[in-house]
Amino acid sequence: MAKVEKFALHIPTLEELVGVLQNGLKENFADVEVSVVDCPDLTQEPFKFPVKGICGNPRIADVGGVPYLLPLVQKDKVYDLNTVAKEIQLPGAFFLGAGAVSSRVVGGNAELIPIVQAQSGKSPAVNGSYLARINPEDGGCLLEKYSSKYKDCEFGLLANLYASEGLPGKVIKVKANRRTGDQNFISCIRKTLEKCYGDKPVGMGGTFVIQKGKAKFHVMPSEFSECPLKTDAEVNNWLKFFEMKAPLICQPVLVSTDPGVDLRLEHTHGFSHHGEGGHYHEDTTPETVEYLGYFVPAEFLFRIDRPKHTHLVGRD
Ligand SMILES: [Zn+2]
Repeated sequence: MAKVEKFALHIPTLEELVGVLQNGLKENFADVEVSVVDCPDLTQEPFKFPVKGICGNPRIADVGGVPYLLPLVQKDKVYDLNTVAKEIQLPGAFFLGAGAVSSRVVGGNAELIPIVQAQSGKSPAVNGSYLARINPEDGGCLLEKYSSKYKDCEFGLLANLYASEGLPGKVIKVKANRRTGDQNFISCIRKTLEKCYGDKPVGMGGTFVIQKGKAKFHVMPSEFSECPLKTDAEVNNWLKFFEMKAPLICQPVLVSTDPGVDLRLEHTHGFSHHGEGGHYHEDTTPETVEYLGYFVPAEFLFRIDRPKHTHLVGRD
């Protein structure tokens, strides 16, 4: 098993977070409405997740890292969500987040949008994930249901995961329309938490929908770079960028500040029901964009298989 490091996160009450996020998001969006609500039934449209909610023993896992992808890929870095569930002491966990596919399964590189209920004593795993890859026919984005081709719960290189028991419960609802500042939706939330809580790390995960507008996403090429990618400019030249249109259903994982374990502080992948998906950067239509999200603060952070040799390239 990989090396696992466990940390207790700072856990503000949902009511306190409502006030903090309402004030912070107002700096970046024209209309903001934050409240505590019962989690909507996530088995319904537009989510269609295998579980009803994102509550119950909420935790965050940061597995592997960008140093296993850059400057050159380490293809032996392969993980399994059923194993990660045990490593974070939550067998049967429901995972949402952002990662890369296992290239030995998929036969190339691709974005993974993990939506998985891991196996438990009683029941087999339910894999509702999507993968987004470059279409070899036309160079466009090809979004596929993972279970339409593959039967496993593997991923490769890196993943940022929000895990829970997948239960209904109280969550923070965030509605933010019309962007007036420079921050993307998740950076704004994370930086607000960092400003408020300083070196006490607060972690959150969940799901949000870009209901109106368009957004900049990237999809990694199917072939890993054969020449070392050493700068952000070289990485951006290798990645394929797209402007994707709403509705986009996105799974964010964020931690306000790094307790010193080489975290990726924010990472969001999203899918749609119209064939687009990948890695979220920011909306490109600030005047018309509408975000609706549901979040839960995590209780624990697990750092799994942290790279020994690290760098800060390619963390956007
Ligand atoms: Zn990504």
